[in-house]
Amino acid sequence: MTRQRYLEATTERSFEATVERVVGNRVVLDTTLFYPSGGGQPHDTGSLTDGERTWTVSDVEKTDTVYHTVEEEPPAEGTTLTGRVDWERRYSHMRYHTAQHLLSALLLAEYDAPTTGNQLYADRARLDCGYERFTETDLADVETRLNALVERALPVSWYELDRETAESTLDPERTRIHLLPDSITQVRIVEIGDYDRTACAGTHVARTDEIGEVTVTGRETRGPEEERLRFRLD
Ligand SMILES: [Zn+2]
Repeated sequence: MTRQRYLEATTERSFEATVERVVGNRVVLDTTLFYPSGGGQPHDTGSLTDGERTWTVSDVEKTDTVYHTVEEEPPAEGTTLTGRVDWERRYSHMRYHTAQHLLSALLLAEYDAPTTGNQLYADRARLDCGYERFTETDLADVETRLNALVERALPVSWYELDRETAESTLDPERTRIHLLPDSITQVRIVEIGDYDRTACAGTHVARTDEIGEVTVTGRETRGPEEERLRFRLD
């Protein structure tokens, strides 16, 4: 299994790696900083180079290991490469992902509305939650509270726990560990100050003020007991 350095070194943008395997136009490396699509966070893009040739990384997915799709004829096994992550795109994902954690915690605390799904992009995000119907006043209130949390510059930290400990010590409604497949025995916990604690394998900013100003751009119904909220960051 490729060493998934994006989980530890969330602010590093370039890395050295060796090609372990090539499957069609997909490259497996011994280590990577490229985030694969998952948990509502899109994959990273960027490049790989051996100093002479450069390969464009257009897709990254994780199944049994992490696969980097390259646009050009792939490098040979054993090639040593420098990988570079498109930082503008990745950093946006980190900001949106951290904002989503705050929003999920806020909706649960203030509206008893548990998050049921989310999808973020580099320029917008949406979140689905169990709730009957948000009013315009609710949306304005959510936006105000969310921006207050951003301005508090709460520190974001993460650590690993074994699943048993995590399940017995953390609030199951917040962490949603029970939704993880049984094969996951180590859980990555992401904490935002004293406000939120969630199991998550995504990438996040180090402090909530990096998120920037949040605008709740709208809502729509997803069914009798489900709402979808959309937001944008500036
Ligand atoms: Zn997350």
